[in-house]
Amino acid sequence: MQAYRRFDTNHAFSHAVKLAKEYQKELVVYEGLRMDYPWNSKRIHQFILEGMMENQTRADEIGITYWPYVETLKNPAKGLLKEISENAALVVTDDFPCFIIPEQTAKLAKKVNCQVLAIDGNSLLPFSSFERPASAARILRLWIHKELNRNYPTPNTTLWKKEELKELKELKELKSKSKPNKQIGFPKNPMALLEEIPFQNDVSPVKGVKGGRKEALRLLNEFIKNKLDQYGTKRSEPNRPELTATSGLSPYLHFGWIGLEEIFYAVLQHVTKGKWNPERMSHEKPGDRENFYSPSLSANMFLDELITWRDIGYLFFWKDKPKHINLNHLPDWVKANFKKHTKDHREYVYTLEQFENAKTHDELWNAAQTELVKTGKMHNYMRMLWGKKVIEWTNSYEEAFTILEHLNNKYAYDGRNPNSYTGILWCFGLFDRPWFPERNVFGNVRFMSSDSTKKKFKMNSYLEYIGELSGKSNSLFP
Ligand SMILES: Cc1cc2nc3c(=O)[nH]c(=O)nc-3n(C[C@H](O)[C@H](O)[C@H](O)COP(=O)(O)OP(=O)(O)OC[C@H]3O[C@@H](n4cnc5c(N)ncnc54)[C@H](O)[C@@H]3O)c2cc1C
Repeated sequence: MQAYRRFDTNHAFSHAVKLAKEYQKELVVYEGLRMDYPWNSKRIHQFILEGMMENQTRADEIGITYWPYVETLKNPAKGLLKEISENAALVVTDDFPCFIIPEQTAKLAKKVNCQVLAIDGNSLLPFSSFERPASAARILRLWIHKELNRNYPTPNTTLWKKEELKELKELKELKSKSKPNKQIGFPKNPMALLEEIPFQNDVSPVKGVKGGRKEALRLLNEFIKNKLDQYGTKRSEPNRPELTATSGLSPYLHFGWIGLEEIFYAVLQHVTKGKWNPERMSHEKPGDRENFYSPSLSANMFLDELITWRDIGYLFFWKDKPKHINLNHLPDWVKANFKKHTKDHREYVYTLEQFENAKTHDELWNAAQTELVKTGKMHNYMRMLWGKKVIEWTNSYEEAFTILEHLNNKYAYDGRNPNSYTGILWCFGLFDRPWFPERNVFGNVRFMSSDSTKKKFKMNSYLEYIGELSGKSNSLFP
């Protein structure tokens, strides 16, 4: 269990159960947390560990052999996977498109003596439905809508049923002999393990932010009940979290504690009072963002972000699974544009340290960076502005990319995700079109300004929130 860290509504786990029954072998679920991943920190580690502890409870409920493993200096992971899979008939894992996971999977396949199956449980449609990555959201939207109308997939949205649990327990009784010598399983106080890890980054966990499936389901219910109906009109407006119309689900999707399919159904059943079925999708107008899935504008706009915008990033890396992501992934028109503007004069230039400490001249940028550092999150609109300004205020496009990648992945709970990279690359023009007039540094890449953001939205409430986060009584920026 590397990417989709849950037992319910999980394609890889369901497939593993099916195969274990066929082979009549015990099914062992291994969930590891290594200590050396890039941008590791106590913030991210604690978040993942909370989810693992919940998985232990769920594994006990459904009767599955679950081997959680937290690597520490005293208990290093070297050789562990080989040892675990020594007697395995087969290994099933996730086919996740980026960060360390594709390389981990490839290495695993080389190490073990059995077949390794990587299952694509990333989205509603299997990514093999698409011949190639899409160059713009409108193109992928059309492909997705047409494919859903043509071949609606059987979703994996239900929890394990009573009769299935009996079968799972029977699988557990087929005891395997693979338990390794390493310390598998949790000690009495699993959180104490965090003190035994030399984190490379000093980033603290955020009070009140909790990892795991229960929190993901709570956020989904809260979103549907209190925010969904405003999503169509208010989703872009930055505000304090309780007043934004967005769901806050991206970290939970990233760690796989909730599945895209279950969000999709919960939203559609809510807006159709339980009457949704695939026939209700718009067969006349595939590609119509506002009207495709249901009669509710808000639900359609939300599902478009959840499916089209999320998938465009996942699909972008899914086939090639590049080890290094950089500006070479940009389209030719952007590259030509940057070539022309590379030497343009920059009015402001900041170092990584100045950016990281929110020490620019721009109050909105500093606010967004403060939100990221203090909460591990940043509102989508602010994220776009945040990325654009780093491009404007660094001496080279490459340096801007490195700074954005570093800050996003170091602080954000949802970082290290395909959408981290496509979100950042979007700021450089990926999936976008040329904009006019041609500008300094950006050329024809879309430009964003803090002044227009302030004109577009009432920013007081957001800025007050950031002020509170920084321990200042009223506003961060008097
Ligand atoms: C510079 C930059 C960096 C980004 N880094 C990340 C990142 O590290 N991880 C990440 O998951 N997203 C990233 N995004 C995309 C987007 O900002 C987040 O997915 C969104 O803000 C998550 O908040 P939410 O869950 O409340 O979204 P909601 O608005 O409630 O949307 C629901 C879900 O739809 C998907 N989604 C929504 N908006 C987008 C979008 N613009 N692009 C892709 N998927 C979207 C997410 O999975 C999200 O959880 C980045 C965008 C930019 C511009």
